[in-house]
Amino acid sequence: MLQRCLIFTLLLIAVGCKRAPVTYERAVNKNFHTRKVGASARDLLTAQHYQSLKIEIQYMTGYAPDEQAVANLTTFLDELVHKPKGIQVVTKEIRPIEDTVLTLDNVIAIENANREVYTDTSELAVYVLYTNGTFEKGTLIGYAYRNTSAVLFGKTIRDNSDKWGRLTRTELETRILQHEFCHMLGLTNVGTPMTAEHMDHDHGKHCKNKHCLMYYKTELINYPAMILKKERPTLDEECLEDLRANGGKKNGYYCVSLKDIVEQQL
Ligand SMILES: [Zn+2]
Ligand SMILES: [Zn+2]
Repeated sequence: MLQRCLIFTLLLIAVGCKRAPVTYERAVNKNFHTRKVGASARDLLTAQHYQSLKIEIQYMTGYAPDEQAVANLTTFLDELVHKPKGIQVVTKEIRPIEDTVLTLDNVIAIENANREVYTDTSELAVYVLYTNGTFEKGTLIGYAYRNTSAVLFGKTIRDNSDKWGRLTRTELETRILQHEFCHMLGLTNVGTPMTAEHMDHDHGKHCKNKHCLMYYKTELINYPAMILKKERPTLDEECLEDLRANGGKKNGYYCVSLKDIVEQQL
């Protein structure tokens, strides 16, 4: 199979030189997806090479993604990235695993065994895994671990949402999905260069603004709207400017209105 893919890739390159249209099949290069976080930032932000984006979400039984959170992610991305042929999400249930405490190597092995959507000649593919467990160490709730790959730890999300005084699962998942995606877009200073100094040097690849989506933690507490009006964190102006300078859309938005109560690393 691998051999077939390689041969086909070579054939496409040869055909591409003659500018002949290639419509009958698409080339797949799995090695594209094994690079470090941020390596595909510009490909994600611009339409130079890829005019559309396909997000494959695989979830272990019982941990299906929150539909509204996924919709919030695509709305968010629509404002940031140039994908004139659209952003599509496909979801698929996969078998749960027995040992639910995962290392990063475990996560990569699960992706390698299950991922089905890969970048081809005109469409960029991103993989998001929802596991039935937790990360082996610390309080990590989500992790963008390669250029087009991120994991959300489903049990940690359930344990920390939809409870009295906590965020809804929709809200928490929205924040995690958006935050991890922004790592793949190259924030902060991992594939998308900073236009001004705003990196949190104690927690690499994060923004030092506690009110920014790219701060290294997110709060889990939900305050009654009567007491304090709260809004979802999004990118501050410095992070947005970085994305714009690396080819992102010019009309990104931002708002800041979060209190400094934080618990969970992203
Ligand atoms: Zn920021
Ligand atoms: Zn992060």
